[in-house]
Amino acid sequence: MPSYDVIVVGAGPAGTTAAYELAKAGLNALILEKEKFPRYKPCGGGLSLKIDRVLKFSIKEVIEATVRGVYFSYQQKEGLCLLSDRPIAYMVMRDRFDSLLASEASGAGATFLDGSRVKGISHAKGGYDVFTEDKVFNCKYVIGADGANGVIRRFTHPQKMRAVAASIEAEIPVDPHAADRHNHYIHIDFGAIPYGYAWAFPKKGCLSAGIAGFRGIVKQPKGYFDTFIKRQDTISRIEGYKHQGYPLPLFRNPQHLTKDGIMLVGDAGNLVDPFFGEGIYYAMRSAQIASTVISEAINKGSSDLSRYDALIGTELYTEFQAAQKISYVIYTFPMMWYNLLFERPELAEKYYNVLRGDSRYTLFLKELKANAGSLMKTAIKRSLVQLFS
Ligand SMILES: Cc1cc2nc3c(=O)[nH]c(=O)nc-3n(C[C@H](O)[C@H](O)[C@H](O)COP(=O)(O)OP(=O)(O)OC[C@H]3O[C@@H](n4cnc5c(N)ncnc54)[C@H](O)[C@@H]3O)c2cc1C
Repeated sequence: MPSYDVIVVGAGPAGTTAAYELAKAGLNALILEKEKFPRYKPCGGGLSLKIDRVLKFSIKEVIEATVRGVYFSYQQKEGLCLLSDRPIAYMVMRDRFDSLLASEASGAGATFLDGSRVKGISHAKGGYDVFTEDKVFNCKYVIGADGANGVIRRFTHPQKMRAVAASIEAEIPVDPHAADRHNHYIHIDFGAIPYGYAWAFPKKGCLSAGIAGFRGIVKQPKGYFDTFIKRQDTISRIEGYKHQGYPLPLFRNPQHLTKDGIMLVGDAGNLVDPFFGEGIYYAMRSAQIASTVISEAINKGSSDLSRYDALIGTELYTEFQAAQKISYVIYTFPMMWYNLLFERPELAEKYYNVLRGDSRYTLFLKELKANAGSLMKTAIKRSLVQLFS
């Protein structure tokens, strides 16, 4: 039976990053992926600029657009385009982006088997046996990178994953001339759906548009999505798209992500930012942390992986807890937030710095708290004027 130091289940950004790092550290890593690559992955494909801090190679060839700001709107009744003088995010299509990451992992020395769905795992001497339809592989450690409610997640945490937001995503063909005009910013609409937002991200020849309700209040977001799409002015053929609902496993509470030689990374660990719904950066960063901890454990001859939980706690959970507080306020009062941005546009630049990794959610929250009184007054004043005009 083929044997590996680590088997990584799932070849999204988390799995391929883990395998890349493990291979670079000289470990024998296998990635098992159920789909044949390249595969379509429903996703906005927005990479906040802090991705530059975790990338070890260029992704230039798969960047569809680089954006410098956001066109904010409230229920698309009015809009406010807040552009920065520096980029805030890259836009990618996930089939191309994930294939590039997989080929970098293979290039670093990991074995990549696509079309290999993992059916289950079981304890075995020295680690685990991992079963696909027709093969069995053995390893010392398993990394579960198989997304929300995947096989590995269910093995370590049999209870159903909580805090999964309802979302819809579609790639929509757009008028190429209109698309050129809009390819340097993303569109975020507050109030398009209760407790969430709608987005339109520019790509070459299409918009990745979607909607997500973050608190589970809305179970069927389709109607909200259709309304958002009908109001987009760049769309030339509205009937030319398909949309489907997808789970978005938002962070809710800190949890243990290691158990008996298994680690959960990315969506499998609920590591999605609860304010923006950003998951790719956190998938890659958690995978890097997991790989470092496994490499250290193997070098020391130890089987203790608990440092992973500690590092996720200090680096990611503190951020998510701050993002969660911000999301409670903003999505409960989306109109006030929109009005606040209108009156105090410098707040957007402060958030852009969080996206760039030059600042953090914890600092942004601190600043909002310190100025809460005056910010509230400003937001309420404009909201009241609007309500009574
Ligand atoms: C509608 C929508 C829009 C989003 N937009 C953005 C965005 O703009 N920016 C952003 O940062 N994040 C976004 N996200 C979140 C982002 O897509 C995820 O957080 C990210 O893909 C997580 O990466 P991952 O590697 O953990 O999991 P995934 O990318 O889900 O990869 C998991 C992989 O595991 C494979 N797999 C599953 N089960 C098995 C099995 N049994 N055996 C083998 N392989 C298996 C799957 O085929 C898949 O390739 C969005 C999510 C949704 C739903």
